[in-house]
Amino acid sequence: MNNHIIDLRSDTVTRPSLAMRKAMMEAEVGDDVFGEDPTVNLLQRRVAELLGKEDALFTPSGVMANQLAIKCHTQPGDEVLVEQDSHIFSYETSAPSVLSGVQLSTLPGTNGILTAAQIEAAIRPPAYFMPRSSLICLENTHNRAGGTIYPLEEIREIHRLAQRRSLAMHLDGARLWNAWVATGIHPKEYAALFDTVSVCFSKGLGAPVGSAIVGTREVMSRARKFRKIFGGGMRQAGILAAAALFAIDHNIDRLKEDHAKASTLAEGLAEIPTAKIDRKRVQTNIVMIDMSGTRQPASALLGRLQTQRLLLTEAGPTVLRAVTHMDVSMDEIVRAVNIIKSVLSS
Ligand SMILES: *Cc1c(COP(=O)(O)O)cnc(C)c1O
Repeated sequence: MNNHIIDLRSDTVTRPSLAMRKAMMEAEVGDDVFGEDPTVNLLQRRVAELLGKEDALFTPSGVMANQLAIKCHTQPGDEVLVEQDSHIFSYETSAPSVLSGVQLSTLPGTNGILTAAQIEAAIRPPAYFMPRSSLICLENTHNRAGGTIYPLEEIREIHRLAQRRSLAMHLDGARLWNAWVATGIHPKEYAALFDTVSVCFSKGLGAPVGSAIVGTREVMSRARKFRKIFGGGMRQAGILAAAALFAIDHNIDRLKEDHAKASTLAEGLAEIPTAKIDRKRVQTNIVMIDMSGTRQPASALLGRLQTQRLLLTEAGPTVLRAVTHMDVSMDEIVRAVNIIKSVLSS
């Protein structure tokens, strides 16, 4: 196994376990466009309940879940407030402009976190010649900031502001599970402060496909219609929903292990003077490694690490990103540290 590739590019590279595949194989299914897939219906009830909302909708991807939220909460010409490194702004191929006809106002966060005061200053006054600010999207944990956790108190302030100024709130909670496990704050507590929340089953939870959006029955019925418009109406999707149910039942608590692996990785790399890590940003399963001290571009380092069978991603011109997950062991993390050490010293 020593020649095995250590893949720390993302927690999306996890493959469904045998037990998960068995659950998929045994899933009871029906046509979900008719609302008749019992496993999809069960998943939607479970997720709605877990997040303390009236209803949930299963989607093929996290991008679709986020875009449904934007579609449901805005009118064409509106403006949506997001953090400048958010997934919605960075990695959703400008979908808000294509699918909802809205523009994004991007605000610089501190480690991905915006303050209520910052958001308040960016909300447009009600002038006919200005866009209407109608939605605030936050991200927890924040991907590009390195898996950082949104402080609940800050979200409460933003929620009060949104209520006062009549803006809707959406949480991109692709990794909300990680925030839950790291803080002990139940997803319900976070979700209570948002109109809609999206969650992902195909990241650290290890399902092959699938996300969900939760909210009121009224918003979810509109989201269902838009999901069909976006091409996301699925038929015997219970096979996928079974994987998501399995993931919820078995793979949330174990995210702790991924966080421990990220910590170990950060500790190990701290011994390398040219690899800088901001330890207070290592809060969950992502480690950002500032390689500017090596005077080599991140892309060149990636190539050299790849020849040693270690895969990371480039998070900036001199920054590498490592994400821990269930398909990488603690031993492999120790090996990853050694590979990085040897590449940097040669
Ligand atoms: C992965 C991710 C998504 C959804 O991505 P998909 O690949 O469409 O499932 C959304 N938001 C964040 C923060 C993510 O990390």
